[in-house]
Amino acid sequence: MGDNAYPASWYAATRDTSADRPPLVARIEADVAVVGGGFAGLHTARLLARQGRQVALVERRRIAWGASGRNGGFVGPGFAERSGALIDRLGLDHARGLYAQSQRGVAIVREAIDELGRPDIRIGPLLMGSGKLSVSRTDQGPGFADRTRALADTLGAAFEPWDTTQVRALLATPRYHQAIHDPLSFHIHPLNFALALAADIEARGGAIHEKTEATEVSREGGGWLLRTPGGEIAARHVVLAGNADLGRVQSRIARAVLPVATYVAVTGKIGPKLADAIRWSGAISDTRRSGDYYRVIDGDRLLWGGRITTDTREPPRLREMMRSDILSVYPQLGDIRIEYAWPGIMGYAPHKMPQVGEIEPGLWVCSAFGGHGLAQTAAGADAVAAGILGDDARWRLFAPFGTRWAGGPFGRAATQLIYWNLQARDWWDEKRQAQNAETLRT
Ligand SMILES: Cc1cc2nc3c(=O)[nH]c(=O)nc-3n(C[C@H](O)[C@H](O)[C@H](O)COP(=O)(O)OP(=O)(O)OC[C@H]3O[C@@H](n4cnc5c(N)ncnc54)[C@H](O)[C@@H]3O)c2cc1C
Repeated sequence: MGDNAYPASWYAATRDTSADRPPLVARIEADVAVVGGGFAGLHTARLLARQGRQVALVERRRIAWGASGRNGGFVGPGFAERSGALIDRLGLDHARGLYAQSQRGVAIVREAIDELGRPDIRIGPLLMGSGKLSVSRTDQGPGFADRTRALADTLGAAFEPWDTTQVRALLATPRYHQAIHDPLSFHIHPLNFALALAADIEARGGAIHEKTEATEVSREGGGWLLRTPGGEIAARHVVLAGNADLGRVQSRIARAVLPVATYVAVTGKIGPKLADAIRWSGAISDTRRSGDYYRVIDGDRLLWGGRITTDTREPPRLREMMRSDILSVYPQLGDIRIEYAWPGIMGYAPHKMPQVGEIEPGLWVCSAFGGHGLAQTAAGADAVAAGILGDDARWRLFAPFGTRWAGGPFGRAATQLIYWNLQARDWWDEKRQAQNAETLRT
């Protein structure tokens, strides 16, 4: 696989066949230059192009080569940081404002998909709006329903509690207890969505250059000059949307994002036993710190994501790992074959919230969306685009979360220790409940 080829994922195998875009080999001018062709950069460029701004976007490899073209495809509100922690830290009104901005992100994605009118984004005719279940692997006790409804009321959210009987009627596994059902979340083909956004930017007069790394940004006149190996863009504003791999163009921002790996697999055709195990067409994730997330696609295949680690190398036995994760929840699926398995890198800031805002006059950041980025990149892009157009209120919601150093290798080691600790706690909680249940039975 060449450096610029998409990884051998199910998405790449079913992507639209749009052609490569040429690298930048000249000096061009734009109102806004965008670094990064993932969802953060694409939404920013598209929202501004829709408002008549001349945009130019550069992407080091291919459109959505990074996390945006290889993720789980779940679109839903909220952030990687839990809502309760945001309420504790910022107060109710501010946390509500952030949640509303994430809901705006969901709406932007939904509207864009409707406008683009491309069936290859929806993965089948049904799936938009078919909802998401966040299932618990431990019994949440009798207060769960009241607590969930109270949080939904507080945030102005649409989610609702499901009890264990409801969950197990649809998901044939004793692993799961209660769930939170969010009817507004949905699932998409992320690579085709990104490619469609790129085509729409170009249709609106924007320029996109692939195989073009932004290497330096400096002031020029009243604006900025963005340099690439073969050309440069003079622009009034520059938006850095490079996620975990921004590189030397702005090393302070690059160092403020920690790369964390996670994996997705797609099985071969499983046949009718899949429908016996999973009778729900929407998205499913479990609520552990590094839980599983999955959905039935293509009739009888399972798309399954999970695991997080700060070791960004691809594990040699990735297929076997993913297969054993699936069978640990649904052993009845038996002899399944993993047809695709691939890694992806998420960008996390130490505070687990995105970095969104103006860091110097005309220099913007829209990055670090962590494991929760399909709607949140649109929310961040909307805030940045509004700021460039003169409305600062939305990006200021993110101002408490800065761009401080993520700790380099020490940050990675510390984060890995935290993950191991949280994973051990999840394992222990489950184990203890199972033992208690066993004691009660005997
Ligand atoms: C395996 C996996 C599963 C996930 N599942 C989900 C999910 O189900 N739901 C969800 O909401 N989120 C999910 N996420 C997270 C989500 O995919 C990301 O948060 C989101 O795609 C981030 O978008 P982005 O544009 O910030 O980054 P990216 O998609 O990584 O894009 C950044 C782009 O910038 C380019 N770039 C960087 N530096 C430069 C430079 N100097 N010059 C030019 N180009 C540059 C990179 O090449 C890259 O293409 C998942 C992530 C992974 C990896």
